[in-house]
Amino acid sequence: MRAEIIAVGSELLTPLRMDTNSLAITDKLDAIGVEVCIKAVVGDNRADLARMFHHAVNDSDLVILTGGLGPTADDVTREVVAESLGMRLVEDPAILERVRERFTRRGWTMPEINRRQAQVPEGAVALTNRNGTAPGLWIDRPDVMVLLLPGPPRELMPMLEEAIERWLRPRSDAVRLYRRVLKITGRAESHVEEQTQPIYARWAEENPPIVTTILAALGQIELHLNLRSADEARATRRLHDALTSLVEVLGDHVYSTDGRKLEEVVGSLLRERGLRLATAESCTGGLLASRLTDIPGSSDYVDRGVIVYSNQAKVDLLGVPAALIAERGAVSEPVAQAMASGVRERANVEIGVGITGIAGPGGGSDAKPVGTVAIAAAYGERVEVRTFHFMGGREQVKFQATQAALDMVRRLLV
Ligand code: ATP
Repeated sequence: MRAEIIAVGSELLTPLRMDTNSLAITDKLDAIGVEVCIKAVVGDNRADLARMFHHAVNDSDLVILTGGLGPTADDVTREVVAESLGMRLVEDPAILERVRERFTRRGWTMPEINRRQAQVPEGAVALTNRNGTAPGLWIDRPDVMVLLLPGPPRELMPMLEEAIERWLRPRSDAVRLYRRVLKITGRAESHVEEQTQPIYARWAEENPPIVTTILAALGQIELHLNLRSADEARATRRLHDALTSLVEVLGDHVYSTDGRKLEEVVGSLLRERGLRLATAESCTGGLLASRLTDIPGSSDYVDRGVIVYSNQAKVDLLGVPAALIAERGAVSEPVAQAMASGVRERANVEIGVGITGIAGPGGGSDAKPVGTVAIAAAYGERVEVRTFHFMGGREQVKFQATQAALDMVRRLLV
């Protein structure tokens, strides 16, 4: 079954609002094996929408439209769909009553314009909207199925689920999409590609194929393995075997094969081992502590984090020797090391992390250009300290520094 999604709304064509509905819809359709082949965003314009919709119904088995079902004149989805399919719009008294009732419950009278929301293409089935006024609409034709859903995500989701259970799941074949994600840090995309391509290229030849994509994001690379199959047990086994062979070549650069973020993986390792951690951050301004504490339950293993931005703060709060800073510079491995040990001792925990660097855009020199970051992680007798040279602007440098620090802690623990 080929599906197409059309998100309607002029605000979705501005930089201010993103079409997220299509992502949620795709996720639900994937789970029942319906493939989304095309998606589009169209403004609140009759002619543009009519053109897109005309293509979609001729091209796909299922067309899902979201948005533009409101009562105002710029909400044109209902009319355009009815007209394109040659269906008459008729007022549904039951819907009108429900819309009116929503207003009455709040002690308001229904504005006349809301009558439009009770207009239904003749023969369409209305889906009750539990969280708003606009009903969803289901149109079932021999050649195409069309589903109209309101724009607000909390209104759309329950109706989408209802439509899936009532009409789509029974019709979808047994083929489902199975996906596994493997995450790596500390490697360049081209290295990962070089090592893994000969392996995953073979899977693409198999029947059904495992389709692998490499996605490079800031400070990490993801390998997505997708397999469409009607046999869940076999699909799960094949993906497991595929992941295992990738981990074999990529080794301990792989930090997650179950979708978890690096801060979650580090958190689990700390919890399993009953260890606690404290952070001392200069150029990252608390981002490391923030990421660690984004994970629910992190109070089990995060003790404290200090932001020691100035040299004086490093001396006052962590006991970093002023002479060391003067001699080696605030951005140096010995200072990162003194920060890690200083915070660890003061917090009386097992692990200390120190980050000091130049996030830019100013402050760089020939010897220490922007992006130079010294990171230390101390655990027991072991102290890891490294200097990195990150690319990108201020935010990118900060994020990559926390990513590297988390990975250093992970490596100390595995
Ligand atoms: P309503 O009856 O609430 O007006 P509607 O179907 O007319 O419903 P719109 O007016 O198009 O919906 O959109 C209402 C709001 O829903 C938007 O302001 C936006 O916040 C959200 N929304 C609409 N489309 C999307 C989308 N594709 N992705 C995410 N949010 C969306």
